[in-house]
Amino acid sequence: MKAKDYFTPEEQKRITDAVEQAEKNTSGEIRVHVENECRIDVLDRAVQIFAMLKMHKTKLRNGVLIYLSLKDHKFAILGDAGINAKVPEDFWDSTKQAMLEEFQENRLTEGIIKGITMAGEKLKEHFPYKQDDVDELTNDISFG
Ligand code: CA
Ligand code: CA
Repeated sequence: MKAKDYFTPEEQKRITDAVEQAEKNTSGEIRVHVENECRIDVLDRAVQIFAMLKMHKTKLRNGVLIYLSLKDHKFAILGDAGINAKVPEDFWDSTKQAMLEEFQENRLTEGIIKGITMAGEKLKEHFPYKQDDVDELTNDISFG
């Protein structure tokens, strides 16, 4: 089964809608990347994907990647330097914990949306939307 097939088109749309909703109020950028397997440390893999998707290209370095490896039940949230300088140290951990609670109930899509929403709220706090903000990173969800 391909990573993409774990999600119905409706679920994929709910995820991209959540990203769009979260990005409405911030210059920050959120992306979700899902693949089947991760053969290295999950955070190292998230760093690779972050670079591959050119997520460091945002002006304010405020991109956030939510990365999931489905078969190994691993996931990571990776923020760029700009956002990491602003959020409390345990913020990503508490976001991950909230996501994990959904995943443990087999609510994959809800867990991802939870992460998007929580990241979005933090981004909004530190990087409020300005008139000339653009969607610097399009393609809200991708599959490996
Ligand atoms: Ca934006
Ligand atoms: Ca975007």
